[in-house]
Amino acid sequence: MPTYIVLLGPPGAGKGTQAKIISEKLGLPHISSGDIFRENLKNQTELGKLARGYIDRGELVPDDVTIGMIRERLSRPDCKPGALLDGFPRTTTQAEALEEMLREFNGRVSAVPYIKVPEKVLIERLTGRWTCRAEGHIFHETFNPPAKPGVCDFDGSDLYQREDDKAETVVHRIRVYMEQTAPLIDYYREHGTLLELDGTLPIDQVTDDLLEGLEGRIAA
Ligand code: AMP
Repeated sequence: MPTYIVLLGPPGAGKGTQAKIISEKLGLPHISSGDIFRENLKNQTELGKLARGYIDRGELVPDDVTIGMIRERLSRPDCKPGALLDGFPRTTTQAEALEEMLREFNGRVSAVPYIKVPEKVLIERLTGRWTCRAEGHIFHETFNPPAKPGVCDFDGSDLYQREDDKAETVVHRIRVYMEQTAPLIDYYREHGTLLELDGTLPIDQVTDDLLEGLEGRIAA
């Protein structure tokens, strides 16, 4: 049976950072809805054109578009063993659609690590964040700087500041999270899959807690 893990938490909690570290260890592809949208923006696809306004304003792309995009991604052969989902689902409608599509793939969500970080810390993290252009590796100018400014430690590509990491948009994205995504904490708690983690700890510590928490919940 395939293994699906959903990383939950506000923007800036460290979902992408942790996903990049644990995806290989777990043997599961890292599926980031934000990365897929950004790839489509870059390539100016129809999906990218449709999503741009929402992303720039820090709002959610409509559910039907997002669900269709994820369904297509999860149907690809590399997702046969399952997936590590980062940034999806973000609404209750998306969570219910995910359950339904995973039933088709003979799977279900096995664990939902929820990375908790207070709002003040999120703003500092997002406004100082630098993202790698090639693969989306994530750095922070103060808390996790690259060895060489402006250059990704992992693949040498250049680092840029995301348009939606500007202070005004960041505040709005956090509000959107509180209103539309935070209800998923209770949703998954009721399903018995939630795993709460302190996301203010150092990156390595969060990784250890995450892997320890997943032990026994997934057959990896
Ligand atoms: P992220 O990289 O996860 O912060 O996502 C960047 C932006 O992509 C979000 O602010 C949304 O505009 C859009 N996005 C990513 N994932 C979703 C989703 N599951 N539902 C709707 N919009 C999304």
